[in-house]
Amino acid sequence: MAKKIGILGGMSPESTIAYYEYITRTYTQRFGDFGYPEIIIYSVSFQPFVDWPSQGRWDLITDTLVDSAHHLEKAGADFIVIATNTMHIVFDKIQDRIGIPMLSLLDAVGQTISKKGIKKVGLLGTRFTMQNSFYADALKKYGVEILVPQDKEAEIVDATIYNELVKGIISPASKEKFLGITQTLEGQGAQGVILGCTEIPLLINKEDTNLPLFDTTTIHAEAALDFALRTD
Ligand code: GLU
Repeated sequence: MAKKIGILGGMSPESTIAYYEYITRTYTQRFGDFGYPEIIIYSVSFQPFVDWPSQGRWDLITDTLVDSAHHLEKAGADFIVIATNTMHIVFDKIQDRIGIPMLSLLDAVGQTISKKGIKKVGLLGTRFTMQNSFYADALKKYGVEILVPQDKEAEIVDATIYNELVKGIISPASKEKFLGITQTLEGQGAQGVILGCTEIPLLINKEDTNLPLFDTTTIHAEAALDFALRTD
């Protein structure tokens, strides 16, 4: 029996859908049938998670996500994935307060990048993801160094995430801007770029550039599927 996957989602709904779709479709592509693991999705109300980070209320974020994780636990999830990069800031604090394991997006991304022999990568994400040290700290364990965009470009990335991508708005002008920013990072020595916000892969993907792009949504969703299918 596969493990039951708990998705702590809604941050935003756009990427939660992508996790669900990726896990179920990938299973069917691999095995040809519909025997994918059971999935429980707990979708939070997103607005507080947009407001609280800028107010520095990581305590409220932690308490609310712990509560949501307990719902998944009670509903029978065997493990949890938090379907957002930003909220991995409080990953350890949540893990400490729940009774089932959580599968870290950061570890899945670190493993994927180090397998490719890449040592320096650009990181695009919300301003909280780009400004905090949690990404750099986690990837250091895999021998990977992080480069983030300069102030103006970082602002463009953050504003595009909250004003467009989380609302499902995909604009060709923003796509050009994001590709320009990845080129700047490449010019600074990045051997690849982490799409470190689970909505960015809706805007740019592998077909748009020769630079390796690390799509955190599919990397994390794939890790969740593999873990659910593991029999040990
Ligand atoms: N989904 C986004 C991320 O991966 C941002 C939304 C949020 O959680 O604030 O970081």
